[in-house]
Amino acid sequence: MTEPTNETGLAAPDSSAGPSNFIREIIRDDLRTNKFDGRVQTRFPPEPNGYLHIGHAKSININFGLASEFGGQCNLRFDDTNPSKEETEYVDSIIEDVRWLGGDFGDRIFYASDYFPQLYAWAVQLIRAGKAYVCDLTAQEVRQQRGTLTEPGTPSPYRGRSVEENLGLFERMKNGEFPDGSRTLRARIDMASPNLNLRDPVMYRILHAEHHRTGAQWCIYPMYDFAHGQSDSIERITHSICTLEFEDHRPLYDWYVEALGIYHPQQIEFDRLNLTYTLLSKRKLLALVQKGLVSGWDDPRMPTLSGLRRRGYTPEAIRAFCQRIGVSKTNGVIELGLLEHSLREDLNRRAARVMAVLRPLRVEIENYPEGQTDMLDAVNNPEDPTAGSRTVPFSRVLYIEQDDFREDPPKQYYRLSPGREVRLRYGYFITCTGVDKDPATGAVTGIRCTYDPATRGGNAPDGRKVKSTIHWVSAAHAIDAEVRLYDNLFTRENPGDESEGLDFTAYLNPASLEVLTGCKLEPGLADAPTGARYQFERLGYFCPDRDSSPARPVFNRTVALRDTWAKIEKKSK
Ligand code: ATP
Ligand code: MG
Repeated sequence: MTEPTNETGLAAPDSSAGPSNFIREIIRDDLRTNKFDGRVQTRFPPEPNGYLHIGHAKSININFGLASEFGGQCNLRFDDTNPSKEETEYVDSIIEDVRWLGGDFGDRIFYASDYFPQLYAWAVQLIRAGKAYVCDLTAQEVRQQRGTLTEPGTPSPYRGRSVEENLGLFERMKNGEFPDGSRTLRARIDMASPNLNLRDPVMYRILHAEHHRTGAQWCIYPMYDFAHGQSDSIERITHSICTLEFEDHRPLYDWYVEALGIYHPQQIEFDRLNLTYTLLSKRKLLALVQKGLVSGWDDPRMPTLSGLRRRGYTPEAIRAFCQRIGVSKTNGVIELGLLEHSLREDLNRRAARVMAVLRPLRVEIENYPEGQTDMLDAVNNPEDPTAGSRTVPFSRVLYIEQDDFREDPPKQYYRLSPGREVRLRYGYFITCTGVDKDPATGAVTGIRCTYDPATRGGNAPDGRKVKSTIHWVSAAHAIDAEVRLYDNLFTRENPGDESEGLDFTAYLNPASLEVLTGCKLEPGLADAPTGARYQFERLGYFCPDRDSSPARPVFNRTVALRDTWAKIEKKSK
């Protein structure tokens, strides 16, 4: 069964289930054959070593989405086996971000570190079965003796240790008798295996480090491969969905659960999300934060969920994007424009339209009485009939965008210029009658106009037409605001490409943030609540920043209006 897609291979935006994919087919098959007693239990397993990013959103969408689609559940599990890097700040942010995106984990928040005692017992079980041994080689020696894809590895000289000796040494490792790195516990599998992951992989390492949950209780820590599958098994995960780089680890995943004789989940791999002009690596994002190259994890230019949220992204837009891109078995790169397209589609439906002037030019309407105010009706959202209308004040002095006036207009320029008549949105026709200049510099400081009272509401009774409609705000009523405009954080499609010998910070876009002050907004925006979203007519979608207050309004531009993807989609329909 396939869901409808158009010629670009993208799902129709309203298809609730999204395009069909191979993971969904595997689950359907398993349900048909009753493989897991008809259960679907997934998990989302972040390592708490940074904030979640848009790549994680893809994984969240797959894991929570499939669970809910098939009446199952998805757990949130912190893969916190690595003590040195983990922090509670990350745990808290991850919980908040998964919730925000709509991931329903109920009270099922788990920590791999809670399984340390069980994992230790399982390691002892493997030692007893002759399937694990304590090895005294250094990490470097282990690596050197591992062999290559064409040559088998060299067995460790400690491979033949007796069960008794191994049990004693492993216990002493646990008791903290040995320094970091001096010994490891390794699985005894096959030093000649064509899969390097099976050449006696390390199960435990010695690390005298504080853990964010277990403190100093442990000084040996399990490796990811020894912890992950068993954690899945403990939680009775049915489908352990992970990214493609773990495909080569699946035989090891399977080996551990088989050797232990415990419940066996199915690991399934899918393609990682890569986005143009974007880095999706927590390590690199952390470097941007630590070097002060962005203002923090939630800098609105960051691809983190907290950054996107602050920028004005909606969870719905992110979910729609994840549905559109689907899942596959080959890694590719998705255009950032597609994410922005999903955002615009959502904001177009829900954002209230308002008027705001970012780079103000003063306009005096010379035939409008001083001190008078006219309240004009304005539609809140033409896409949403239930959104209603509001009134906006009109008075003698207005602001328009500097860009909407040219003293010397080029051909094809239809906005205001001396002698030209245009329509003010929701207002009147005005005609430019004069230009005020700074006598010293000659710079335009304002313009003068007349208005036609008969054109209230935007139409002339005599049927005469104007070629353009511009937005405006009343000077006496406008509120002042700071507005932050954003562009791509990187200048390159693939900022992670180091082939020119430069690291990703070399490709930071110096113009990624432009701060405008003295912007003039329609008065209704004075107390815009956090989470509100607006379309500033003709300028884009905006939201109040979390720094915004009535005393000092600050708005972020979420995204500009121009949407090249909309055209591509239209053509392909
Ligand atoms: P990073 O390289 O950013 O640290 P990671 O894979 O180490 O990513 P985890 O915290 O281990 O990050 O990831 C949690 C889950 O999210 C994993 O199942 C992982 O496969 C998935 N995930 C991480 N990055 C992406 C991505 N770019 N696209 C899809 N899924 C991702
Ligand atoms: Mg990781």
